[in-house]
Amino acid sequence: MNLKDLLDNSLDKSLSDQKWHMLRQTIVKRLLSSGNATITELSSELQSSVPTVTKAVNELLAEGYMIDMGKVTNSGGRRPSLYSINPTCAYFMGVEVNISDLSIGLQNIKNEFVSIEMGTSFILQNTQESLMEFCEILNSFIEDSSVAKDMIVGVCINFSGRINSMEGFSYNYFYSENRPLTEIISEQLTIPVHLENDTRAMAFGEYREGVVDHEQNIIFLNYSWGVAIGMITDGKLYYGKSGYSGEFGHSTIFNNEIMCQCGKLGCLETEISGWSLVKQFQEAISQGKQSNVSIDENLLGLQHHVIIDGAVKLEDSLCVDLVTKQSEKIGRYLSILLNIFNPDLLVIGGDFARLGDYVLLPIQAALKKHSLGLVNRDMKLKKSTLGRRAGVIGACCIVKEKMLSPLLSK
Ligand SMILES: [Zn+2]
Repeated sequence: MNLKDLLDNSLDKSLSDQKWHMLRQTIVKRLLSSGNATITELSSELQSSVPTVTKAVNELLAEGYMIDMGKVTNSGGRRPSLYSINPTCAYFMGVEVNISDLSIGLQNIKNEFVSIEMGTSFILQNTQESLMEFCEILNSFIEDSSVAKDMIVGVCINFSGRINSMEGFSYNYFYSENRPLTEIISEQLTIPVHLENDTRAMAFGEYREGVVDHEQNIIFLNYSWGVAIGMITDGKLYYGKSGYSGEFGHSTIFNNEIMCQCGKLGCLETEISGWSLVKQFQEAISQGKQSNVSIDENLLGLQHHVIIDGAVKLEDSLCVDLVTKQSEKIGRYLSILLNIFNPDLLVIGGDFARLGDYVLLPIQAALKKHSLGLVNRDMKLKKSTLGRRAGVIGACCIVKEKMLSPLLSK
């Protein structure tokens, strides 16, 4: 079994071979998109004779792409066999890289996790050593899983910041002028690599496997250490010309002379983000405010979790006050996006989503106050259901759809 053969659409085949190849692809596509089927169902849906479909199914069974699930139970007379895609015929890996940790997941072709590790310690630095350490962690994760490396069809890696997915460059981390980062990592893993912006991957995870029902126009807010949005329009991820869309957090909104992480003054993140929450907390304490929590300076990029926990678990007044004020403020600026995009759904995701009503209610009130009534009435507001796994799940879904595009795009 080699998925490459099944995906190969090169034309160096005779016409009858091409037709046969397409029939095999269509059967696999049908099982992937609509689930299990009998030969009679496949024959009728694909408008191909029962003997022809039986021959193709037998080939696909022998090659390991399909499995026999046994006889259908609820049919009278001679009971036919039910066939399924073989969940172990291909695997897809998703990786989310943060400033001080990373998460890795490995899913089978049915989007079921066979292995997942959340929050593995890793300090992201722009050095060759850090890049090699990163590749070693991924290689040892694969070794520790029960899956042979050549069964992993592709890896999608999420980084924050500017990512050009088409060309494989990451501009904020591990940037090299000479070679795409995808090429460098792929050489170390011996698996095709795709890069994605972290927020966009989270948005796609929620769209495929999370909170999204049938909505097709979605804004996903990644409210975490930084702030960004992922957009889905007419059921497709929106990238912009080169993939840099969604940098909501770096809109220069405030006249506060506060330097942002991006180097500009007064970005949205300077007053609304995980890192600004930490600064606001520290300022409040220095002004004599009381709190039951204290910040550990060593928790690089994670200190805002202490304040979020303070609000959720301890109902600490200062923590609750700071997060609800920020959330009301972000609601005001989200209302601008709603007026522009008129989405079906706004999903609140990222670390702040753990706050539940402490984040949702102030945002809801601010949206009602500041967005146009008609736009607000069109839209649902929901919290992410995938939580911390959104990025890894989204990455697995993105690389699966990219690698299987010869099957899925027809
Ligand atoms: Zn900025």
